[in-house]
Order: sequence, then C-alpha cells, then structure tokens
Amino acid sequence: MKAITVEPRKPGTVRYEDFPEPDVRDGSILVEAVVAAVCGTDLEIAEGKYGWAPPGQTRLVLGHEAVGRVIDPGESRSLKAGDLVAGIVRHPDPVPCPNCAVGEWDMCRNGQYTEHGIKEIHGFMSERWRIQPEYAVKLDPSLGILNVLLEPTTIVTKALEQVMAVGTRSFWEPKTVLVTGAGPIGLLAALVASLHGKEVHVLDRVETGLKPELVRALGATYHSGSVLNVGFEPDAIVECTGVGSVIAESIQQIGAGGVICLTGVGSGGAAMRSTADFAAAVVLKNNVVVGSVNANKRHWYKAAEALARADRNWLGRLLTRYEKPENFKEALERRPDDIKVVIQFAAL
Ligand SMILES: [Zn+2]
Repeated sequence: MKAITVEPRKPGTVRYEDFPEPDVRDGSILVEAVVAAVCGTDLEIAEGKYGWAPPGQTRLVLGHEAVGRVIDPGESRSLKAGDLVAGIVRHPDPVPCPNCAVGEWDMCRNGQYTEHGIKEIHGFMSERWRIQPEYAVKLDPSLGILNVLLEPTTIVTKALEQVMAVGTRSFWEPKTVLVTGAGPIGLLAALVASLHGKEVHVLDRVETGLKPELVRALGATYHSGSVLNVGFEPDAIVECTGVGSVIAESIQQIGAGGVICLTGVGSGGAAMRSTADFAAAVVLKNNVVVGSVNANKRHWYKAAEALARADRNWLGRLLTRYEKPENFKEALERRPDDIKVVIQFAAL
C-alpha cells in the first residue's frame, strides 16, 4: 500500500511511498483511509522538529486526524464493515502510571504514552490502517468527512473541561470567553464555548477574510490587535497561539478569578515583563494558568456530541483545501488562506 511517511527529526524526509500493510498486531480492525487532516503537529514533524518512529523502525506514517471506513471489524462488537471510524490518538503507557491506569492517558505522568502518527505508533495517512477496538471511535455517518474535525474538537473539549474544573475551586459563573488565535483549534474552541452558551470573543492577527466571517457566523465577536484592547476582562481565556506576547497580554487582561488555558505550543518570544511581575498579576487576581494537551475517551464522546449540534455548513467552511496524497508537499505547506487542509485518500 501507499503511505505518507517521514523520518522523524530529519527535515525534508516526507515521502508518499510503498509501505508494508498494517500489522495485525496493531489492531484487529482493518480500515480503509477516506481522509486525513493536516495539523500544526504534522507540520512540525515534517520540519524535523518533533516525532518518534516505532521502536526498531526508521520511518513513521504521519497523520492523527482521520476518517476511515471499516473493511474488517475484527474483534469489534460494535463496528461492521462500511462503518466510518476514527482512531483515538494517544494510548496509555505500559507501566501504567496512575492516570493511564484509570483511562486518563491525556494526563499521563511518566511520558511513556504513545501517539498515532506522532510518537512510536504509525498514523493514519496510509491507504489502510489498523486500530484496536478499545481505541476505535464509531463516527456519525451523516457528518461524513466533517468527522475529520472530531480529533481537534476533542482537544478543545478537554481544554474547556479543564477551565470549568479549575473554576470549581470557588464560586464562579463564567460568562465571557476569549479565544486567542482563529486557526482550527481556536475556531473549534469558539464553537464549543458558544454551544455552552458563553459570550464568545475571538482574537487573531488577520483583519479580514474567512476567519472573521466564521467567528461572526457563530454569533461571536471578532477582535484583531492586542489582547489589551478587547475592551473587557474575560472570565476565561483559551490561548491557542503559543505566542509569548499574546500569553503575556492574556495574563494582564484576564478578569479577577479568571482562568487561562494554554493549548498552543510555541517557543522563545520576547518577555514583556519579568516572571515575578506575572506572578504578582496572577496572585492579586486569584488567576489560574493551566496547560492542556490531548484528550481521553470522555472528551471524544463529548466532542462528538458538540459536532452533532454544530451547523454543518459552518463546519464544512473550516475545510479550506483538499489535496490528493501524492500532492503531500502542497498539503504540508502553510498558506495564508488555510484553516484546515484535508488529504483525500478515497471517495466517501
Ligand atoms: Zn501514563
């Protein structure tokens, strides 16, 4: 079969090439790829900044946001041939740590977890892939390829759950949510927060185009420029840029008792003030800055509920570019008008 593969930590090594069929030890369910979406992590892996091949192998099949069609349900009792399916990205560590032992592999403490297409297990950008029944998620057939947004929706579902969990430390009724960054994660965070009935604001660098349109279509308010100029003190901020100055401004602008959830991963950036100044701002307003990564089964379930309630036309507008797998180089380019790029392996 053909697969989009990479030699992790070596830039420029992505290929669309002949690759061995998926090993039955990787899961009894055999799946035909329909689509796989590209995310920032895939680009970082392609740029040689991240990623691990399976033990004893040099190349990793990319891709962790996917929709597939079941060819053989194997040992699954809930799937049948033809069903649409996604694979849960992270698998628990083998020790396991206490969190993995109770199914909270998103909170893994020892770092020995594995992730499809990222860390030590092959991803879903191959013509066929396999998954174990316990990590297979049956998808809503009426959503079709829009299901490719389920995995990023699990990330924001967990992030908002973290915000609410932290908020229970005191009396707190958050009304306003500011999302920084209007990429796929930011827009999906805005979607889920508005489905929760919050007053949603989204801030991004761009001033015109699809991003402001999509924000307004949710009934949310769009801002560009500095977080310091949004004109209110948000109860919660979901930070999706990973940009140092945006994070620094978020800590200044958050309301008293507010929660900032960091979901973006950046590096460097000029510090606007000292760490002690930030600490003082956080102390004096009882703020919490919480990091959030990945998702567990509960978040996959809740994310599917959110997608089911979302406007399908709006979801479809997030998928801004479709590429064939042989055009993987184009698919892995960052273009200004991209929100979500989808690689189409087969027709639905
Ligand atoms: Zn663990």
